[in-house]
Amino acid sequence: MRGLMMDMPLTITSIMQHADQNHSQGEIVSVTADNPDHRYTYADAFRRVRQLANALAKKGLRPGDRIATLAWNDYRHFELYYAVSCAGQVCHTVNPRLFPEQIEYILNHAEDRWVFVDPMFVPLLEKLQDRLPAVEGFVVLTTGALMPETSLRNAWAYETFIEDQPQTFDWPTLDENDACSLCYTSGTTGHPKGVLYSHRSTVLHTLVSALPDVMGLSSASVIMPIVPMFHVNAWGTAYSAPMVGAKLVFPGPQMADGETLTRLINAERVGYSLGVPTVWLALVNYLDHTGKTVASLKTVVVGGAACPLSLMQAMERHGVWMNVGWGMTEMSPLGSLNYRAPAQYDWEQHRIDDMRVRAGRNVFGVDIKIVDDSGAALPRDGRSAGLLKVRGPWICSGYYRRDDDSSVDREGWFDTGDMATIAPDGCLTITDRVKDVIKSGGEWISSIDIENAAMAHPGVKEAAVIGMSHDKWTERPLLLVVPNTDVVVQEQDVLNFLKDKIARWWMPDACVFVDTLPHTATGKISKKDLRALFKDYQWP
Ligand code: AMP
Repeated sequence: MRGLMMDMPLTITSIMQHADQNHSQGEIVSVTADNPDHRYTYADAFRRVRQLANALAKKGLRPGDRIATLAWNDYRHFELYYAVSCAGQVCHTVNPRLFPEQIEYILNHAEDRWVFVDPMFVPLLEKLQDRLPAVEGFVVLTTGALMPETSLRNAWAYETFIEDQPQTFDWPTLDENDACSLCYTSGTTGHPKGVLYSHRSTVLHTLVSALPDVMGLSSASVIMPIVPMFHVNAWGTAYSAPMVGAKLVFPGPQMADGETLTRLINAERVGYSLGVPTVWLALVNYLDHTGKTVASLKTVVVGGAACPLSLMQAMERHGVWMNVGWGMTEMSPLGSLNYRAPAQYDWEQHRIDDMRVRAGRNVFGVDIKIVDDSGAALPRDGRSAGLLKVRGPWICSGYYRRDDDSSVDREGWFDTGDMATIAPDGCLTITDRVKDVIKSGGEWISSIDIENAAMAHPGVKEAAVIGMSHDKWTERPLLLVVPNTDVVVQEQDVLNFLKDKIARWWMPDACVFVDTLPHTATGKISKKDLRALFKDYQWP
C-alpha cells in the first residue's frame, strides 16, 4: 500500500522561498574587493537573486546550462548560488587556485556559457579566454564604477548586469533530481572530475547538516564559512544558514588572514565557523602573537584533512572547541562528524583526546563500510583498517561526462579512496589516503597518526610523512617537518619525542627539516608533490 502524502519536489527554490518568507531580516555580512563591510538582509539578497535570474534569462540561458564562478565567499557569490540553480541552470564553482591549465580544462569540459569572476582573477581569464570556445561572456563581480580595464570579450560589471532587471521572477517548477551545481575535484592523477549535485541531494544534505549533533544551526547562530564556496559549496552552509535563518558572515578573499578573521568574529559575534586545519593554524598563530581574543567563537568544524590534537588544544586555550568532520567533494561533502556526546563529559582527559581527533560517527543518510583488498567487509573492531566505501542520497553515483569511471561498485558503494577503521560504537578513524598508504614489511603504517604525534612537539610547525622505498622493508616512513622558528629544535629531538607516542615499528627512519611543504589548491599538504621532491632521497 502506498502512503497518501504529497509528492513535493525537494528543491533549492524551496529553501530560498522559505528563507525569504520567514527569515527575511536575517543578515549577510561580507568582505569583498570593493567593500570591506557589506551588509544586507536575506530579503535584499533574494530580491537581487530575482534580478540576476532575469538578467540570465535575457542572455538566453536555459535550464541545464552551466554557468561558472571564480569567486570568494561573499554576497554576490551567494546570489549566484540561488539565481542560477533555482532558474534550473547549473552553478559551476571553479577553484581559482588550480593551475591555469586545470581551470581551462574544467571550463571546457563543463562547457560553461558564462563566467562570473572576482576582479582578482580577471588577468587569469584574459590569458585563457581564447581557448574557451563555449564561453559567451564574462561578468566581473564589482560595480560599474570599479570595473577594471579588461580585454575580456563581452565583459560586464555585475551591478550593471543586474541593475535594470525586474525584481520579480517566475521560478520554474523543477524536478528534484535536476542538476543544481557542479564542482570538480582534482585527484592526484589525470584530469579533474566533475561532481554534479542535484536539488534533492542538496536539500537532504542541508537538512541533515543542520541537525543538533551535526552543525546544530538555528536562527540564533552566527556562522562564518571559511571553507570556500568553490570547495563543495562551503560545506553546505550557503543553504543551511538561510534554511534556519542564521546570520552569515563571509570573509571574502581574506580567508586565511588571522587579523581579518579575528576582526570579523568579534565585530559580528561569530559563534560557529568551518574550515581546513591550515586556517585554524593561521588564526591560533595570530591570537597567540597578538594576545587578542575571540570570545564569541565557541565551536568550529575542522575537516578536509586530519587535524592534530595539538591544534585542537591550542584552539581550546582560546575557548574554541573543534569538531572533526569527514567527507569529500563526492559526498556533498558531509560523511561523519565527531561531536562531544554527553557520555564523554566525565571521561578522563586522555580518553577525550584519543576520541576527539577521530572522524566521528557517520551521519544519518550515509552508510559506511570498510573492505579488504578482495572487497570483503572487515569487522567494526576499531583495529582492522580497510578501504572505506559509502552510499547515500547525497553521494555521487558517477562523475560528470566520464565513461571510464569505476568509483561505484555493482552493489552501489562509492569508493572513497580513504583507508579507515570503524570502532564497535561506529566511530570512524581515517588512517590514510589509499594512494599515500605506507606498507612496511607487509603491515600498514598510518601517516596521519605519525603526523599528529609530531605536531604536538612545540618545535614543529607542520609535519608530513611519506613512504620511501626501502631495500629490506619495501617502504619506510620519512618525516618531513617545517620547524617552528620560535623554538630551537633538532631533527633527532622530534624523533625522540615520538618514541612513546607511536608503535616502535612506525618510527620514521629519518626526519628532514624543510622550509615549506607543498599544498594543493584546497590547502592540503600535497603528498604527491612531496614524493616527487624527495624521489632521489637516500636513507642516512
Ligand atoms: P575533498 O574532496 O577535496 O574535500 O577531499 C576529500 C578528502 O579529504 C577525503 O577523501 C579525505 O582523504 C580527506 N579528509 C577529509 N576530511 C578528513 C578528516 N577529517 N580526516 C582525514 N582526512 C580527511
